Amino acid sequence: NERILLVSRPKGTPAMSDFRYEEAAVPELKGDQVLVKTIYLSVDPYMRGRMNDTKSYVPPFELNEVISGGIVGQVVQSLSSDLAEGDFVIGNLPWQKYNVVNDISVRKLDSNIAPLSANLGVLGMTGLTAYFGLLDIGKPQEGETVVVSGAAGAVGTIVGQIAKIKGARVVGIAGSEEKTAYLKNELGFDEVINYKTDNVFEALKAACPGGVDVYFDNVGGEISDAVLRLLNHGARIPVCGQIALYNLEKMDVGPRIQSQLLINSALMKGFIVSDYAAHFEEGAMELAKWLMEGKLSYKENIVEGFENTIDAFLGLFKGENTGKQLVKVAEP
Ligand code: NDP
Repeated sequence: NERILLVSRPKGTPAMSDFRYEEAAVPELKGDQVLVKTIYLSVDPYMRGRMNDTKSYVPPFELNEVISGGIVGQVVQSLSSDLAEGDFVIGNLPWQKYNVVNDISVRKLDSNIAPLSANLGVLGMTGLTAYFGLLDIGKPQEGETVVVSGAAGAVGTIVGQIAKIKGARVVGIAGSEEKTAYLKNELGFDEVINYKTDNVFEALKAACPGGVDVYFDNVGGEISDAVLRLLNHGARIPVCGQIALYNLEKMDVGPRIQSQLLINSALMKGFIVSDYAAHFEEGAMELAKWLMEGKLSYKENIVEGFENTIDAFLGLFKGENTGKQLVKVAEP
């Protein structure tokens, strides 16, 4: 059984040498256990935080232990009365080709509702993050301007589309021409900014002549500094991610923006998707309905092969993905 361990805490941007692939035996099943074959594995930016030895909303990964994350798999052996061979399941599981788990630690999936991979993206963690962060904190109203950073990623693509569904004007910020073209031409964003080639503040000022009512922040840093200069009265800012800061070795000090919040009576609120766990089912149903109605679409960037997992993870910090980054480990 192949697996991936964290062997050193990354300094700055993680390197291949911070990880190790190794072989291990698969234990015998006992009790209500099942053997799950990994089919899709999710790599996510938040995992970078777990590689540091610092307090956060989830405990750090232990050194020399297998890394864990979102996995969709198939039961290939079962002692459980609830899960049968062939069933598809999702769970937060160690990065291994096979996992022996208690049946209650995974959730059964219906593969007729949506493609398996969608459960790790648009109908899973990242889709729900977009849904609850935007609707509960951002509360976009018809005709308002919503700006989203990290716009071409798993969360950002869904945020922009939900904002459009709610009748808002959407301005996306992303890091390549290919991404901005996708957002504008395929997802219907009203304006898009390439933060690598445009002057973000000037481009935003032009793209948001009426100011910014909602800023869904996926990245932090200088991009957010620019957006926050354009807030309208009563603006709402869901703080979802700060990927521009995750690999910094020294604290980044930017403009002190609290005065922007103060003079605009604006609300800035951080959130973790699990804050909304009690409402996940309702969120997933709404997202699924929009998918079926053709109001929502999604993209996945799928890397083939377990051996490419770390490359796929590192690619998140280089902007290699459009939409949800996944690794396909095996065929069902
Ligand atoms: P994405 O699919 O958006 O992948 C990451 C993207 O971030 C890259 O494709 C890249 O796109 C962009 N990026 C990388 N480095 C930088 C940088 N230095 N500055 C600006 N952009 C950068 O990931 P997710 O959609 O899964 O996550 C988006 C954000 O949301 C992350 O910050 C993540 O931590 C956070 N998150 C928070 C959750 C919560 O519960 N609060 C849950 C899930 C995610 P580009 O080419 O545009 O640079």
